[in-house]
Amino acid sequence: MGVHQVCIKGVPLTRFYERSSRMPSPRPGQNGFHHEENGNHSNGNHSNGGSLHVPTVIDPPTINVVDPEDPLDLGDLTAYKTSKGVTRYFCSSCSAHLFFVHHNPDGDKWTVSVGALERTDGIVKIGYHIWVGDTLDGGMADQLRKIDGVELKRYSEKSGSEELPVGWKDKAFLDKEKQQADGKVADKQDRVQAHCHCGTIKFEITRPSEASTIPSSAYPDLLYPYDVTHLSKVANPADEKWWLRPAHSDRPTKYLAGHCMCGFCRLTSGSEVQSWAYVPIYNIVEPGTDTPICLEEDEQRPKGLKQYMASPARYREFCATCGASAFWWRADSPDLICVSVGLIDEANVGARAESWFDWHTHRVSYIEKAVSSSLGRALEEGLKSI
Ligand SMILES: [Zn+2]
Ligand SMILES: [Zn+2]
Ligand SMILES: [Zn+2]
Repeated sequence: MGVHQVCIKGVPLTRFYERSSRMPSPRPGQNGFHHEENGNHSNGNHSNGGSLHVPTVIDPPTINVVDPEDPLDLGDLTAYKTSKGVTRYFCSSCSAHLFFVHHNPDGDKWTVSVGALERTDGIVKIGYHIWVGDTLDGGMADQLRKIDGVELKRYSEKSGSEELPVGWKDKAFLDKEKQQADGKVADKQDRVQAHCHCGTIKFEITRPSEASTIPSSAYPDLLYPYDVTHLSKVANPADEKWWLRPAHSDRPTKYLAGHCMCGFCRLTSGSEVQSWAYVPIYNIVEPGTDTPICLEEDEQRPKGLKQYMASPARYREFCATCGASAFWWRADSPDLICVSVGLIDEANVGARAESWFDWHTHRVSYIEKAVSSSLGRALEEGLKSI
């Protein structure tokens, strides 16, 4: 019996063998949530805490990656070097990030994205957050604090580096925030930048405007769990503009954001949690302009953005070069776009970008579909404690 790693196409890519006579058993190692700049922008996730997180990885040799009788073919994968010493591999069709390879002088060290595993119980044990310092505002580390009662360590850089307390923020970032709050410096943030790791996909988000109320859309599962909410409610008959925050405000300044653990997000990212912000297309503009990006017309789509139809009329968009998840949208409400929060440039706003996004703290979207229910529960508890 093995545990398969699959992307959304369902093709088993690797097999992890347990209790095989030929191979050592996988043991739960300690796996970490990565929050570094490289990881977030290349898979579009946020190690939240604002940051979103990149795939959790399993370190060999606790697990065998390749079945010697049927070697893995990397031909369907795109390789992308996030730095000199690291190559990431993602599915060329759907962008699922699957492997992360450290090139060391003593040989390559392969790690595996946990989101693509068909099950994680007894195999994956998340023990810590790393590169929390890169988030500037604590990122997702503040939203995911304890799993099964065990406090997760929060390392500033790699595992074993300085530990940062819950609520930590980068000093310069905090000073800037305070000065803005005190009115000592003007808050000139009328737009926030976003980009993928390789820089092919770049856009900006502008503050809510008149046009932000144009879309009409059913409520998302984030707000009303689909498995227990009557369809007539989900349909949003009053046409509430629920993506604008504060809710019911005459002057909304932010957009709703939340985490999703559905199978589509998991298997197209390779990450167990994907973080999205709901933004009208009129507020997603080409850098330095007021021209909204276009996703529907082939000739006008951002160059280098690849589309994957995960289910009928549901589109996922990612960078063909570095594999970063960028957007997802549906044909029945094409002007309301889910933007991958991991692409937001944290330099001025922090990884959680709380000056732009209102994080939903009552629910993780599709938590019922999570492969690891303890991770889902941990995230919901952490969100409520903020
Ligand atoms: Zn795929
Ligand atoms: Zn890219
Ligand atoms: Zn999802």
